Amino acid sequence: MDKKKKIGIMGGTFDPIHIGHLIMGETAYWQYELDQVWFMPAGNPPHKQNRVGRADDKQRVDMVKLAIASNPHFELSMEEMNADGYTYSYRTLERLNKENPDTEFYFIIGADSLRDFDTWKEPARIAAACNIVVATRNQTKPEIFDAMLEKQRNLFHGNFLKLDTPNLDISSNTIRERIHLGQTIRYYVSEEVRLFIEKQKIYGELK
Ligand code: ATP
Ligand code: MG
Repeated sequence: MDKKKKIGIMGGTFDPIHIGHLIMGETAYWQYELDQVWFMPAGNPPHKQNRVGRADDKQRVDMVKLAIASNPHFELSMEEMNADGYTYSYRTLERLNKENPDTEFYFIIGADSLRDFDTWKEPARIAAACNIVVATRNQTKPEIFDAMLEKQRNLFHGNFLKLDTPNLDISSNTIRERIHLGQTIRYYVSEEVRLFIEKQKIYGELK
């Protein structure tokens, strides 16, 4: 049998996509010898669409496109961007497995997402459907990070793997806050994304 294809999935709200997301995708690509990484913006439920001070779905997708355009092994996936917004990860992953029997999926998340993994819908089914690759975050101590991974392994019997990134002290929330405070976001996001945010005044005026 031919070797399975290996696809990374970098899911997120991407409001906006920042260098943390991009470094995670790139690190996963090299560390786990992936064939591609799919950036998969999450659909917002109807009540979360068109909020003041937040990007709408089209703007979030456009920012992802701009951010990944220069990387030949990154792709946009619209799997979770359906009309009524909301999708559950286990459903997406089970559907992708069914549609791509020759592919093994690597779901890329941050340590904050791992911490509340057991509150996600059907965590055992997510763990059965993919490898889960976790980047450290919020200065989590190495031994605590290892214990968190071990805890989820014991609970859900999944393949929980570590991603070798430095602690990337950046979040979409801090970027939105920096804009409100009149602080620069240069180099927090790709230059293409920064110019797009500036032009569309998504989060207010940029410095
Ligand atoms: P917000 O501040 O709005 O919550 P965010 O920066 O956390 O945004 P998301 O789009 O919510 O970005 O994140 C998508 C995924 O990427 C999540 O699994 C999150 O844990 C992970 N992630 C985002 N930024 C980082 C980072 N700097 N380090 C590690 N993981 C990250
Ligand atoms: Mg977040």
